[in-house]
Amino acid sequence: MRVALATEAAPGRPNEDFAAVTADAAVLLDGAGTPPGSESGCSHGVAWYARTLGSSLLAAMTQKPNETLPELLAGEIKAVAGLHEDTCDLAHPGSPSATVVMLRRTDDALEWLVLADSSLILDTGGTTDPMVICDDREAQVGARYRKAMDALDSGTPEHQKAHREYVETLRAHRNRDGGFWVAATDPLAADQALTGTVPQEAVRTAVLLSDGASRLVDRFHLATWRQTLDLLDQEGPEALISRVRAAEHSDPTGARWPRGKTFDDATVVTLSMP
Ligand SMILES: [Zn+2]
Repeated sequence: MRVALATEAAPGRPNEDFAAVTADAAVLLDGAGTPPGSESGCSHGVAWYARTLGSSLLAAMTQKPNETLPELLAGEIKAVAGLHEDTCDLAHPGSPSATVVMLRRTDDALEWLVLADSSLILDTGGTTDPMVICDDREAQVGARYRKAMDALDSGTPEHQKAHREYVETLRAHRNRDGGFWVAATDPLAADQALTGTVPQEAVRTAVLLSDGASRLVDRFHLATWRQTLDLLDQEGPEALISRVRAAEHSDPTGARWPRGKTFDDATVVTLSMP
């Protein structure tokens, strides 16, 4: 299996994405931001959360082959909560959270799990469209509240304030029925993840993407998934991130593509099967 990984923080910010790969397992997490000026109840921060949960998930995936991916995720959400329940307020609605993509290779199958808005692309090759797995519940809830933010120019204090208010409003819908689910402190979120299994020989390439990387396709509409897979195949994951950055720079105020973050952490993992 050929693996390529690229990750790049939004300019001037710590990288809150995390990705890691072994020969038989891959994980990608996108820590959900605590916007400047917003409280979280946790002294460790979002980058710590994504890194800690991600590395313990990868370890668990390789050490516990008999547990399902949701079981592993539930166990590690609980374990990471245990690391800071004595020092931090885990009941705070803004406690650090993360999206999760997990991919595991068994003898003859690929098992996957997707929670929240990071994406998994499974390409069977040939002319059929790739399978695109993304949990869009947060976007659905968010659509109700983002009008005020989207009407303002990115980079202005007014937009920053509207973004903070938007994020804080969405917290009331986090890890609730009828809302959206992310990895945070409640292990029950793992049961809400999208999961599936595909025969290993059916997949030529698997791609894990944070929404800062998938935005070239799903927000900017500057490429199709097929074109993106070709780009990844020919030029590697850095090329996709470069295109995203170029698009972001071309629209600094969000006039063409209204968005909460002008620039976002972008992470891409590609796994090409022999
Ligand atoms: Zn903490």
